[in-house]
Amino acid sequence: MARPTFQALPGTRDLFSPDTDRMRELVSVFAEQAATAGFALVVPPMFEDVGVFRRLGEASDVVSKELYDFHDKGGRHIALRPEQTASVCRMFAENRPLVPWKAWYAGPNFRHDKPQKGRYRQFDQVGAEVIGSHDPDVDIELIALAARFYARIGLHRVRLMVNSLGDAADRPRYLSALRAHFEADLDALSEQSRATLLVNPLRVLDSKRPGDAALIEAAPVLLDYISDEAAAAFARVQAGLAALDVDFDVSPRLVRGLDYYTRTTFEFAADGLDAAQNAVGGGGRYDGLIADLGGGEEPGVGFALGVDRTLLACDAEEAFPAPSTGVQVWVIDTVGALDGLQIADEIRRAGVRCDRSFDGRSMKAQMKAADRSGATLAVIIGADEASNATASIRPLRGGGDQYQVPRADLLSALRATLGADADHGSAISSPTSTTTRETLES
Ligand code: AMP
Repeated sequence: MARPTFQALPGTRDLFSPDTDRMRELVSVFAEQAATAGFALVVPPMFEDVGVFRRLGEASDVVSKELYDFHDKGGRHIALRPEQTASVCRMFAENRPLVPWKAWYAGPNFRHDKPQKGRYRQFDQVGAEVIGSHDPDVDIELIALAARFYARIGLHRVRLMVNSLGDAADRPRYLSALRAHFEADLDALSEQSRATLLVNPLRVLDSKRPGDAALIEAAPVLLDYISDEAAAAFARVQAGLAALDVDFDVSPRLVRGLDYYTRTTFEFAADGLDAAQNAVGGGGRYDGLIADLGGGEEPGVGFALGVDRTLLACDAEEAFPAPSTGVQVWVIDTVGALDGLQIADEIRRAGVRCDRSFDGRSMKAQMKAADRSGATLAVIIGADEASNATASIRPLRGGGDQYQVPRADLLSALRATLGADADHGSAISSPTSTTTRETLES
């Protein structure tokens, strides 16, 4: 075999069916859920002025270390999006839709992360954002949307953690308490965390380095420093989730990786995945981000769910099997006139998944291809069928004899046979078709 000249870059993957079918189905389930909750699809660009993403906070790894940024041929400093919230906020600031504005999205993001299972440099997310409302009911509805989505795809071992980071005004008091806590015992902190401490003490709480764990465990918690209004909003979020039977734990140390969050933050962890990479989604309020992007004092709240990791969690729970998208019918034409072409077209127009062989292959080679395709039925046009305007139908799975039908009856015969094959999930809807196998054969 020839050696390929190039390979996919580290942290990127070539996806094939059935993984691709499953991914598409996952996004379509999310699309349906989002639409039922009043969200409309937006498609932000995949790259923006680097400044859009810098607003996410210079202290977060996503911005300081992982951005794919470069100068384009016009000399602009741009970056591939590491996530979509900032782009959605930029879209809002630029286009000013009516508030509350509810948008959902799906698509790839790019982070120069250390590649490993469940952590890629190009990965997909689905997400939803609501801009223009302070109401904590919005937070509740968003969290419920994500939780219902996981339930809908059959993922049950997902834990929801919620926290409140209070308002921007609550932050300085907490930050100084936190800084004082870490500075009192600097030697116990890893070198990286000592560096992070200088930029943003909050980020030290994100450290997964084992040496830092004890000091982090003993650190003051933000929940003890938040304003009465933020505390009341957080109480409402908890009451709302309980009223909707959405299970959660309050997790006072949940600060999440991005700097822009205020008030409610939340994360979903899948117990089926390794602890280091078990976050399947998360989000929160970002009441300052839109103003930072020139969009005025509008509050926002949203979440993003990692598609790749959610599917890994599905694998671990044996949930959400790939939908069947394989061909149902294989057309075999040994005559080589126009019949094969026309019949395949006719079958496809009827909404049945159909394929055929090319290059004038022998009957034997075409039969082999039909078998390998996984199709339920083969439609055969040989010299006999071509001359008397018929087609033969041969069941490829589960036995049964080959039979001939007039060309004019081919579609209804296929419908009847495929419709009866419930296991293959290939039923064709045709309320008017009453043709049965027996009547065709007679
Ligand atoms: P974040 O935008 O960092 O809050 O990420 C939201 C979700 O996207 C996470 O919970 C993960 O499921 C997923 N995610 C983030 N980064 C990656 C990555 N590098 N590879 C795969 N999934 C990711």
